[in-house]
Amino acid sequence: IYGPERRNSRGHNLMIDGERSALMATIDRFHDHRWVARPLIDGAAQDSPTVVTVTSPQRRSDVVGEAHYATAEQALAGLDRAEAGFRSWYQTPAAQRAAVLERLADLLEENEAELIALCGREAGKTLQDGIDEVREAVDFCRFYAREARRHFSEPMVLPGPTGESNELYYEGRGVFLCISPWNFPLAIFLGQVSAALVAGNAVIAKPAETTSLIAARAIELYHQAGAPADALQLLPGEGATIGGALIPDERITGVAFTGSTETAHRIHRQLAERDGAIPTLIAETGGQNAMVVDSTALPEQVVTDVLHSAFASAGQRCSALRVLCVQEDIAERVLALLTGAMDELTIGDPIEFRTDVGPVIDDKARQGLSAYLDEQKAAGRLLHQVQLPAECAAGTFVPPTVLKIDSFDDLGREQFGPILHVMTYQARELDAVIDGINRTGYGLTLGIHTRNEATAAYIEKHTRVGNCYVNRNQIGAVVGVQPFGGRGLSGTGPKAGGPNYILRFATERTRTINT
Ligand code: GLU
Repeated sequence: IYGPERRNSRGHNLMIDGERSALMATIDRFHDHRWVARPLIDGAAQDSPTVVTVTSPQRRSDVVGEAHYATAEQALAGLDRAEAGFRSWYQTPAAQRAAVLERLADLLEENEAELIALCGREAGKTLQDGIDEVREAVDFCRFYAREARRHFSEPMVLPGPTGESNELYYEGRGVFLCISPWNFPLAIFLGQVSAALVAGNAVIAKPAETTSLIAARAIELYHQAGAPADALQLLPGEGATIGGALIPDERITGVAFTGSTETAHRIHRQLAERDGAIPTLIAETGGQNAMVVDSTALPEQVVTDVLHSAFASAGQRCSALRVLCVQEDIAERVLALLTGAMDELTIGDPIEFRTDVGPVIDDKARQGLSAYLDEQKAAGRLLHQVQLPAECAAGTFVPPTVLKIDSFDDLGREQFGPILHVMTYQARELDAVIDGINRTGYGLTLGIHTRNEATAAYIEKHTRVGNCYVNRNQIGAVVGVQPFGGRGLSGTGPKAGGPNYILRFATERTRTINT
C-alpha cells in the first residue's frame, strides 16, 4: 500500500436528519449573501473597467455577486509580482509550505457552509456535490502537503563512488499559471494551485469566468492560511485577455490547465511558439467515456451506476459516462429499468436536499446542448427524455436524455451535459466495441459491468484509458484512492490526487560533492 496511513475528510451523512438540518440551516444563512471577486495583486484588490454581475444558473433573478475581470496590464503586473515572490518562496522549507496547505484545509472545513452555498448559487451544484466539492478540496490540500513533506524535505541520497556524495532534490520551476474549470470550482481550482505552490512555485490563479466568486473566496482563505501575497496572485477574467497576455511571456515556466481539449491544444501551440526556456504543460481535458455491459451483468446495479455516472452533476464532469454499450441479450431489460429510473429523478433547485440533477452552468451551455438534442431528435435518435418541471424555466436546465446510436461513428464532439448515448452489441462484436472506444482518441474513464473476471481483464487490457471502474459507477475519483487523469485527447497526466502529481510541478536537481 502506497505511503503512510492517511484518511480523507469525512463529509456529512445527509440521511441523518439532525446532521442534515443543522448543515442546511448554516447554508441558508448565505441564501441572499453577495460576494465580490477582484484581481488580487500582491494581496491588494484591484478595480477593473469590466464588472460582471453574477447570477445563479437555477434562477437568473438570484444575484450572487459581481466579478471584476482583470485587464492585460493587471495580468502582467501580477506576473511581475509573482516572479519576485518566487525568489523567496522556493527557498521556504517544504514543511513550511506544506503547513500553509494544511491550515487552508482547516479553514475550508470551518467555512464549509458558506462554500457549499456559494457552489450551489454560483455553479448550480447540488447539496451533495457541494459537500463533496469541499471535501475534495480539503483532501487535495492535505494529500499534497503530506506528499511534499515526503518528497521535498530531505534530498534523496544516491549511490556513488567512494569519495563522492550524490544527492537528488526537487525545487520549484518558477511561476505557474493555473487555469481551472467551472465544473469543480473549488476542488480542481485549489488542487492545481496547491500542487504548484507546495512544489515551490509562485502561482497565478486564473479561474473559469463563470466561477470567479468561489475562486476569490478560496484565495482569500489561502492568504489567511499564510500563503505569501506575492507568491499567490488571483486574476479573475477572460481567458483570451489573461492567457493572451501571460502565455506568450517567457517568465511563465509552467501552465496547469483543466478544460476543453480544444483550449489545451491552443495553449500548447502558444507555448510551443515561444522562444527561450521550454515550459511545462499539465493538461486535463475531456472524455467520450464508455461503459461496457455484458450479458452477465446485474441490470439493477448497472442502472444505478449508469444513472449516477451519466446524470449526476448534470453530466458536467469530464469523467461522466457518455456512451453505454450493452450486450443485446440484456439490453431491453436494462433500458426499460433505466428509462423508468430516469423518470424518478428530481430536477430543480440544487440546494434542495431532494434534488438529483441541477442546472447546467449557463445559458450558452444550455443552448449548445439543446441544439445538439434537436439535431439528434431530427435524426430519429431520441430514446428517452425526462420532462422538466415548470420551475426549471427560471434557469438553465437541460433534461436528462438518452439517445440511441448504432456505433461510435455516430458520436460527434463531447457533449458536456446530461446526455447519454446507448448502443447495443452482440457477444462476437466486443472487439469492435473496444476498437470504437479507442478510436475516439480520448482516454479518460471506462466502466465495465460483468460477472466474468476474464472479460473485465480483457476489456481493461485492450482499451487505452486512464481510470477503469469495474462493477461500479465511473465518477467521483477519490483523492489518493483513485488518482485521476487520462491520456490521448483527455490530457497529459500526471494524475491529480496521485503519487506523481506534485513532482511534475517541480524540477529535479542533483548535487555531487567530491568529499
Ligand atoms: N475527478 C472528477 C471525477 O472523478 C472529474 C473531474 C473533472 O470533471 O474534471 O468525477
